[in-house]
Amino acid sequence: MTLEFNARIRDIPIYPAAATYAFGGELVKLASNETPWPPHPQVLEAVEAQLRTLNRYPDPEKSLLRRRISERTGVPIGRVAVGNGSCEILLAAADAMLEPGAEVVYAWPSFSIYPHLAAMAGARAIEVPLNEAGEHDLEAMAREVTHATRLVIVCNPNNPTATALPPAAVDAFTADLPRHVAVVVDEAYIEFSTLQDPDDTLALLDRHPNLVLLRTFSKVYGLCGLRAGYALGSQDFRLAVDRVRQPFSVNALAQAAAVEAMAHQDEVERRVEQTAIERVHVESALAERGLESTDSQANFSWVALGDRDEDDVVNGLAERGVIVRAGKALGDEGWLRVTYGVRHENDRFLAALDEVL
Ligand SMILES: *Cc1c(COP(=O)(O)O)cnc(C)c1O
Repeated sequence: MTLEFNARIRDIPIYPAAATYAFGGELVKLASNETPWPPHPQVLEAVEAQLRTLNRYPDPEKSLLRRRISERTGVPIGRVAVGNGSCEILLAAADAMLEPGAEVVYAWPSFSIYPHLAAMAGARAIEVPLNEAGEHDLEAMAREVTHATRLVIVCNPNNPTATALPPAAVDAFTADLPRHVAVVVDEAYIEFSTLQDPDDTLALLDRHPNLVLLRTFSKVYGLCGLRAGYALGSQDFRLAVDRVRQPFSVNALAQAAAVEAMAHQDEVERRVEQTAIERVHVESALAERGLESTDSQANFSWVALGDRDEDDVVNGLAERGVIVRAGKALGDEGWLRVTYGVRHENDRFLAALDEVL
């Protein structure tokens, strides 16, 4: 006897996790857009204090964390949804909004989780190619919106191409779409964008009731190991994504850590600055080697490999203990995505690249 699965399961892609490699020395992990810094000491203390309460369920309302997010963003607490990573909110949005006959529109290549949304809901995915510069083609995306569209996702800055749109472009795009369509702007890397202050898009929420901003504690806050993210949107959106999820999806340690991490905005600024310095360092080193990369507004570069064999480059780096991502797994062959680490990690990447090329 074999188990019988539903028809949708065949269509759900397997998330392309970064490979792990056996390597004798210390690995330089530049494959998952993580930040290279350990959590702030006070975040660790908050987590440790929380450990003693683990016999209790976490707060299903995530009240304190939602209150802090509300205070920081000015968005009323009833419009703040917190998830087990922002990915959980994306999947919940698909569960709540999509169904057979419905459509979701997003750019491609973009974040690897987006193809899961239509597949798990039996809906139709409309993937709109990025332009030559690796940026969202918003006009082309708008043309794909029909009466069947429920969800449009804009990844800004975009993973894996690192490019970003200014808030005015998001504003105009959203204004042009029908109000029944939820526009989810995935701002996982927004702190790193030089095109805007993270607060700039908050102002758009009042103008567009169908706009949802998706943010995470996984990137600049450095808490991806704990899983916490949030959405700012309408109250209806929050209630819907809460309804389709189990009540205790965000664990107590993640809630406590995120609350504490938000209290250290000076640390966020320091990290953004360090990242900008490393971005210039890596981008100029790549340019010196004749390698083109897109205009990064994030904590990683998207590097064109020309006619070099992508597998040779990525495997060659891995043999030297440097883990990056091959473009093929992310939707476009012939590219490499490399996250910025601290200086000595980036220099190990560059040295290994010189050997490989
Ligand atoms: C890393 C990333 C996230 C974060 O997902 P979490 O579930 O919050 O860890 C969201 N969106 C994009 C585009 C990302 O690259």
